[in-house]
Amino acid sequence: MLPLLLDLHPDQYPLEGYRRKQLLEWVFVHGASSFEAMTNLSAAQRQALDEQYALNPFIRTETFESNDGSVKYLFTLSDNRQMEAVYMPYLDRKTICVSTMVGCPAKCAFCATGAMGFGRNLSAGEIVGQILAVAWHQDFSPRELRNLVFMGMGESMLNYDQVMLASRILLHPLALGMSKRRVTLSTVGIARGIRRLAEEDDLGIKLAISLHAPDEETRQRIIPTGAANSIAEIMQAAREYQAKTGRRISMEYTMLSGINDHLWQADLLAELLRGMVSHVNLIPMNPWEGSGFSETPEQQLQAFYDRLESHGVPVSVRRSRGRDAGAACGQLALKQPGRQAVQEQAAP
Ligand code: SF4
Repeated sequence: MLPLLLDLHPDQYPLEGYRRKQLLEWVFVHGASSFEAMTNLSAAQRQALDEQYALNPFIRTETFESNDGSVKYLFTLSDNRQMEAVYMPYLDRKTICVSTMVGCPAKCAFCATGAMGFGRNLSAGEIVGQILAVAWHQDFSPRELRNLVFMGMGESMLNYDQVMLASRILLHPLALGMSKRRVTLSTVGIARGIRRLAEEDDLGIKLAISLHAPDEETRQRIIPTGAANSIAEIMQAAREYQAKTGRRISMEYTMLSGINDHLWQADLLAELLRGMVSHVNLIPMNPWEGSGFSETPEQQLQAFYDRLESHGVPVSVRRSRGRDAGAACGQLALKQPGRQAVQEQAAP
């Protein structure tokens, strides 16, 4: 199997000088899906690239369109494993949610991906390749994508090096040239990863922590694997991150009926965030068969929201898109008849 061109840092692309720039332009500006299409490179250069590198990490790409305009992509990798991305077009921007793993070792109890177990980490090229594949399918330049969130399948901080390389490809001016303010890394709460991210001075991407509960008992019920740290450790790392970077932190909070949506939990969450520059995103759960959880009723969601606001906590409700098209993260891969089951490995 040929190495993936997209696994390289843009400064290491295998041509020199302006030829390298042309190659990067073909990949990231024109969105060329084959070396053959790169017509201002010589025939010999195109042939050499074709013999030495693969451009597309996926052997199959399937799409599931939602009534709200978002499109879920189910990608089959060269080892037949499957993972997903979601493309969300808005009037003023194109947004993508990408995966960083096949499956996930965190096993959050409400998450379809968690139910799959851990398959393997994705390489940087397999992460960036999700953007290119969406751009090829939607017929726009990859550079038109303005927002990216690492919130698909997988725990980003447990695939740290490849996620950092992917981020550098996203931000590189000759690659995707994205704004660091428009790239968000989500973690279930890996304290050492949060501290490492604070040291990546050249990146400056945004951090979202999937807290999901403000008390240890509830959190351990929702995230039972111990992949994440204790709430106290996470909040300590978050405060250190903020002191070092000065950046606001998003707190993701999936609302689960009768589990984490009590008003005392809103009070406790506000207490945890006291003195921090943060923003809470309340996310109505995307129900899936067999999850054992249900969505918080609208009235309770509003009450929880109001309670946070009464404490002066900036809060919004983030409604999932694509609910009719495979809905929750991991559901498509979980549902595929005859899919290769995730061969579970030890978490990295
Ligand atoms: S919610 Fe995220 S971290 Fe938790 S199991 Fe799902 S993909 Fe993994």
